[in-house]
Amino acid sequence: MTTIAAPRFTLTIAGNGVPSHTGETFTRISPFDGTVVGEYANADAVDAESAIDAARVAFDSGAWPTTPARTRYDVLTAIARLIRENKDEFAERMVSESGKPLSTALGEIGGAANTFEYYAGAALASEGSAISERRPNALGLVLREPVGVAAFIPAWNFPLLGVVNKLAPALAAGCTVVVKPSHMCSGPTVLLAKYLADAGLPAGVFNVVTSDRDRGAVVGQVLAASTKVDKVAFTGSTSSGQAVMRAAAENTKRVSLELGGKSANIVFADADLEKAAATAVAAFCYNSGQQCSAGSRLLVQRSIYTEFLDMVVSRVDDQVVGDPSEPATTMGPLISPEQFARVTEYIAIGSREGRRATGESDANPANNLLRPTIFEVANSTRLAQEEVFGPVLAVIPFEDEADAIRIANDTRYGLAGGVWTTDINRAFRVIKAIRTGKMFVNCYNSSGLDDMPHGGYKDSGFGREFGEAGLEEFLELKTVQVLLS
Ligand code: NAD
Repeated sequence: MTTIAAPRFTLTIAGNGVPSHTGETFTRISPFDGTVVGEYANADAVDAESAIDAARVAFDSGAWPTTPARTRYDVLTAIARLIRENKDEFAERMVSESGKPLSTALGEIGGAANTFEYYAGAALASEGSAISERRPNALGLVLREPVGVAAFIPAWNFPLLGVVNKLAPALAAGCTVVVKPSHMCSGPTVLLAKYLADAGLPAGVFNVVTSDRDRGAVVGQVLAASTKVDKVAFTGSTSSGQAVMRAAAENTKRVSLELGGKSANIVFADADLEKAAATAVAAFCYNSGQQCSAGSRLLVQRSIYTEFLDMVVSRVDDQVVGDPSEPATTMGPLISPEQFARVTEYIAIGSREGRRATGESDANPANNLLRPTIFEVANSTRLAQEEVFGPVLAVIPFEDEADAIRIANDTRYGLAGGVWTTDINRAFRVIKAIRTGKMFVNCYNSSGLDDMPHGGYKDSGFGREFGEAGLEEFLELKTVQVLLS
């Protein structure tokens, strides 16, 4: 992989690469070695309004919303091809800006290309419905129409897929878009603008405003509040999501919120313990634990508790923590010094609240590197209740099935969860009893069924990404009643 020296990036508004109207920029620093890896235009509210206007014009008078489905299919499949052909460029941005290991970045890039292909097919297959039999002289039609201008406010932890899982269905539906990527990793979104244009997407359909941290919240609010925006799709913390929802009430726009999680990975005594232990480590270490659906609470049946905890602790040493550009690295740095400080503060909290099961962590603040850390705690502790967003695991014993369900549901969040057992009846009882948007049985985040709906219950938000449900987020239903004479 070649290292590109701090390239400069513009906003994309109405098909043009433009600086911010003030001319101001901000830089992104590598979380691994502190080098400047990119300089971005620093948009403010004025730039955000320009981008919204461009998307509004492209929707109201442009061709995209009425483009034949076959054309949308062609454009979306071309985007998938261009992402694959330019995967090294995307990977370089993701590794240098986010510290994501190369192998993780390549997996995400493949997922983004697959997602464009999935929604290319969905654009072709999309159908409404008709009612002709209720009355002999009447016909009912249900049409599906694009929701309009969609604004995306994504998080940084999946800087490509977290945009594409909104963008691909929005384009398939015929929407126009404004994206404000996270300041921590804007590069993949900016690259997308280039390749979307190459794929034949008309000017103004995809607009990008990059902003630093402080302006990012301001621009996010402008997008969420704008009466010219019809839908806002947000991914991030629960508190920011609530602020977006409040602003979106301005014009009763459609809202979807993909928020935080504190998911329970439940291991019963009859499970395949080898597999469960290896997966439990991946479930809280993948992406250095910076993952909304991380299995960050491990619930273990009392009868195997000590044996299983030892198995998990011994497998933590398999994680290779280090330079994200090294192919062997499985865990890169945390996203920023602020995130590193936040996670190490939780490690201090865990030390006070419970017993540390892993050895002293050789945390390296210079590189924001942190080895996985495991605590035995009660479910009522902060470590078990609050989202850490780092490689820190809370382990909690349970007595029986009812106890496991009670503990798993004892959280404000409801994003994901896992159950490990060889008893299929128990597996189904547990998945039905747990209030989350996604459950894994004898796996965790690794089933290969990535195009199924993803989203939360409770404080993990609402709305769904991926699958048919992801497309519905960008469609309105129009009912037509026809009286025949
Ligand atoms: P964050 O809430 O700090 O920021 C998310 C986005 O919102 C950023 O683009 C930011 O600029 C913007 N923003 C911040 N304040 C805002 C405001 N007041 N109004 C409008 N926009 C605002 O979150 P983060 O640190 O980027 O991401 C980590 C969080 O994201 C975690 O809680 C994680 O669980 C969650 N997440 C959830 C999912 C999911 O699918 N449920 C996926 C990934 C991440």
